[in-house]
Amino acid sequence: TNFGFREVPEQEKSKLVGEVFSNVASNYDLMNDLMSGGLHRLWKDRLVSKLAPFPGMQHLDVAGGTGDVAFRVVDAIQKAEQRVPGTTLADADEEDQTRVYVCDINPNMLEVGKKRAKERGLGNAACLVWMEGDAEALTLKDESVDGYTIAFGIRNVTHIDRALKEAYRVLRRGGRFLCLELSHVSTPGFKEMYDAYSFNVIPRMGEVVSGDRASYQYLVESVRKFPNQERFGSMIADAGFKEVEYENLVGGVVAIHSGFKL
Ligand code: SAM
Repeated sequence: TNFGFREVPEQEKSKLVGEVFSNVASNYDLMNDLMSGGLHRLWKDRLVSKLAPFPGMQHLDVAGGTGDVAFRVVDAIQKAEQRVPGTTLADADEEDQTRVYVCDINPNMLEVGKKRAKERGLGNAACLVWMEGDAEALTLKDESVDGYTIAFGIRNVTHIDRALKEAYRVLRRGGRFLCLELSHVSTPGFKEMYDAYSFNVIPRMGEVVSGDRASYQYLVESVRKFPNQERFGSMIADAGFKEVEYENLVGGVVAIHSGFKL
């Protein structure tokens, strides 16, 4: 069944994605907490612990508008610095200074992120660089970052293969690609429960909390259409990444895919 959702033509998709996130930016945090029961925080923690950020790292977080992943990366680097006396984010040489680039296609989401950075005392932090841009056509130079993350973002990209190629291009040799995304549940019993939750509860929640049922219907539909763990893994390998693997969290509700540019 297709649960009554219409297919979205490709040319409409970018426009629709833009509208979805302009509409939801303000209720974004609340909806994330409600939909995932707060678990998205732990999933993002897991993503960043896999990344193992280090002082001096050049990192790119794509679709990272609200800063959720970037702040965790900065926190992890600050913790790592405390273990190495004598180095801080502030006193490193200009060229080996830590940089966490946050790229998002939607300026509203970036504004939410910048506001949150200020609230965290990172309003003027040189290590955080906010960039409006498209995952499919990054403005960073070839082989310029050590890490690339994308959390709950790749599903919304029009040409996933182009975004993966771009990730590969900007990463240095030895650099790691990590993607956190809603994925596919296959365990019998759990799958039926999860489908019922996704197709009935989430759109209703969206309607009540943000007055926007359509955006959340789109979200659920886009999860269903997104390639499963194995297929997405092959796409990552097709882009050139090696040692591609994935980790399922909560039985595949989300998965973290990983690959290295070697
Ligand atoms: N990473 C954040 C998190 O996990 O909380 C935000 C995820 S949000 C569900 C998806 C984000 O992807 C939105 O901020 C949206 O603007 C952004 N996005 C959609 N298409 C994009 C593209 N082609 N390039 C960059 N960002 C994009």
